[in-house]
Amino acid sequence: MKEGTPFIVEVNPKIPRRLKRMDELAGNLWYSWNRTSRTLFARLHPSLWDAVGHSPKAFLKRVNEQRLVDAVDDQVFLANFNRVLSAYDTYHSEPMRQNGTGLHQSDLVAYFCAEFGFHESFPIYSGGLGILAGDHCKAASDMRLPFIAVGLLYRQGYFSQLIDAEGNQVATYADSDFDDLPISPVLRDDGNEVHINVGFPGRTVIVKVWQARIGHVWLYLLDTDLEVNSLADRDIVHQLYGGDRYMRMQQEILLGVGGVRALQEIGLKPTVWHINEGHAAFQILERARSLVREGLDFASALEAVAVNTVFTTHTPVPAGHDHFSPDMMIEYFSEMLHDLKIEKEEFLALGQSADSHEFNMTTLAIHGSRYHNGVSRIHGDVSAKICGDLWPQVGPEESPITYVTNGVHVPSFLADEWVDLFDTYLGYEWRHRLCDTEFWSKIDMIPDHLFWSVRQSLKSQMLYQLRHRISNQHFRNHGSEAHLDRLLKYTDPINPNVLTIGFARRFATYKRATMLFDNLDWLREIIADEDRPILFVFAGKAHPADKPGQELIRQVHNISRLPEFEGKILLVEGYDMGLARRLVSGVDIWLNNPVYPLEASGTSGMKAGINGAINLSVLDGWWGEGYDGKNGWAIKPSPEHYDDYRRNKEESQTLYEILQDHVLPLYYDRGKFGYSEGWVKMAKHSIATVLPRFNATRMVGEYVSRFYTSASTQGKIFAQNDFENAKRLAVWKSRVKAAWHGVALRRLDEPKKRIQFGDAMRFEVGVQLNGLKSEDVRVELLVGRPGNVNASEMQHYSFVSQEATGTGHEQVFALELAPDLCGKLQYMVRIYPWHELLTNSHETGMMFWL
Ligand SMILES: *Cc1c(COP(=O)(O)O)cnc(C)c1O
Repeated sequence: MKEGTPFIVEVNPKIPRRLKRMDELAGNLWYSWNRTSRTLFARLHPSLWDAVGHSPKAFLKRVNEQRLVDAVDDQVFLANFNRVLSAYDTYHSEPMRQNGTGLHQSDLVAYFCAEFGFHESFPIYSGGLGILAGDHCKAASDMRLPFIAVGLLYRQGYFSQLIDAEGNQVATYADSDFDDLPISPVLRDDGNEVHINVGFPGRTVIVKVWQARIGHVWLYLLDTDLEVNSLADRDIVHQLYGGDRYMRMQQEILLGVGGVRALQEIGLKPTVWHINEGHAAFQILERARSLVREGLDFASALEAVAVNTVFTTHTPVPAGHDHFSPDMMIEYFSEMLHDLKIEKEEFLALGQSADSHEFNMTTLAIHGSRYHNGVSRIHGDVSAKICGDLWPQVGPEESPITYVTNGVHVPSFLADEWVDLFDTYLGYEWRHRLCDTEFWSKIDMIPDHLFWSVRQSLKSQMLYQLRHRISNQHFRNHGSEAHLDRLLKYTDPINPNVLTIGFARRFATYKRATMLFDNLDWLREIIADEDRPILFVFAGKAHPADKPGQELIRQVHNISRLPEFEGKILLVEGYDMGLARRLVSGVDIWLNNPVYPLEASGTSGMKAGINGAINLSVLDGWWGEGYDGKNGWAIKPSPEHYDDYRRNKEESQTLYEILQDHVLPLYYDRGKFGYSEGWVKMAKHSIATVLPRFNATRMVGEYVSRFYTSASTQGKIFAQNDFENAKRLAVWKSRVKAAWHGVALRRLDEPKKRIQFGDAMRFEVGVQLNGLKSEDVRVELLVGRPGNVNASEMQHYSFVSQEATGTGHEQVFALELAPDLCGKLQYMVRIYPWHELLTNSHETGMMFWL
């Protein structure tokens, strides 16, 4: 060819009138959980479907006109098309629910997150956090909640991953063509695009607002890639989690500050604000700024903002929390400081903790919210400890941080084959019984052989996919045919009878992808039995800046190339939601061995569990609650004080023993019908226990009933009469804070050693209130059994303030109590500030004990 720049033109087909509504299907992420609608596109031209990354919108722009014309004459296609449209219309015409959820039509929940994972065709996610956010939106749509979401529109999203012949991860970034994504610009009434301004040091950045439709829910996405902006500013949303600290700061300002402005500009008025992970916490400052502009002082504004804000943390280690240097904060927020009318120190204190001067986004989020949670029981406890110094006098068991365990969106991750089987044996109503644990025990009514054949068929589809992907990978890396045959020895879709174990997730070091290889001799022994073969499948991406993570990929690669492991350990590149759906539904065992307690929740194991794959995991994250002794296998974590070496040794030993003594014997205990009854029993039990508890409807339902409803009500109470209550509470808190160091408590009555059952004891304490009033405090007696130091498990009784009985500055509080237990009892007395407007009794963090 001659030199020169080739021009590219895309020729778009004319969509026949009869198929016009395919556009509508392609523009609504409903397709991400409706497989039949995706199949409609795929069947028209399978290889194009793969080539466009399963994007219906891109597909419709590139499919050959003739295929569409032919489809109009294809009765089978039309019948399917009509069926999909009818399901689509039914889903969208069901009215918004007025009651039952506790939220009203006038309520609106705004959910902010830095990433959203709905489907592989919309690459604005990197892993678990994003997919969880996507599932949250999908469940909110299913539940018809008044709900919107806010995020960033990355030009390149997360990277695509290739793995070369040496096991190196090659990250490639490709610009998304926004025309190919299921999004459209938000327009004003006059037809012009909605643009907003966000101030950065010395300049204003113009931000365009896009929208995506997720069933009933709208997601608003912010974009700076506009010609009016400087080149540097156009790049702010170039890559998800790309760039340096400055880039991160700018993205988070865009999300938090820009997100609030965008909603204002569109005319939406949320009554509940949900910050999903600290990245979005700057929204607190922007909302406070609006209120200060309306005339509130900062402290009252912060009360008004916090009271209807929910914050979910996903990070189990302090180092994982996003933070910025004070200098950077001042550089980027000098105008904000000015607008908030506060001093530098007060501003920085919003993000600082006792042990660090860095400005921490988790700390800011907690200061600016009254509902906080971790994402599993274990993670809730860990978070309460990590954030303990924000409530210095309150023990972790009474910490205002609670937990809502994650869940997965069942229609997105449950394979269609199960849908058919459930329809037959459980009835269509299973869709409305997602959280009914009783109902799911009916899974036993499915005949074992049918259950098994679905499992086999899903596995076969997965193996087929794997062969395809491994072949591409192999030939691209210039491997030979003979070598490929060896690699694919155990991936026979026709005889899917090899025990298959999947491990796929981000390659972050704490997830320990290589724990399986801790003792290679033992592993060799386990896989040596030709009658009981095992196939291990690994997949996952490491962040391009995470060198140790990439080293793990190389290690898996190297071991998979050792002659004795060849074909028994496969490393597949390009982990995304599409591959995840295949793997979680196709493998027999889903393996997870993170370092306890670093797996905040983990969700891929839930996806596996609902598909009848069996979990074999460290008892961390969700599995700490999910494991019941019969629905899978558990690796008990080593004590936390063990060093890495000892911990790996011990936990890998447990893993080998479980594989050798339990997994292999059970799987290969094939009865006369060719499958293991014990295995089927466990797999059924896995579905019955995991599906009804770890689904997104249960999760979102909990957010609604425990947080959203109350936050919305509190928000209204605080806002009424020109924020009267927000101001009252702010004034009260500052009064209490100033006086608290001088408050003192002493006992006045003579402690008794022994009483008769039925007799009342009278307790009396004298309190130096240091200027506070008796109604500003609560004096409490806690009663429990000796040795129990957990305040949340003891009985609580409040003392009553006595009229002017005290001497000097002391106020007397008394309590009469006849214990309802016999035997030795332990009791303690404490005092803490109390006000009727507090959302959480311990939010002031002040308390002390007698
Ligand atoms: C579910 C999912 C994750 C999260 O898995 P974890 O077990 O939480 O690590 C990551 N990536 C993809 C593509 C997923 O589907």
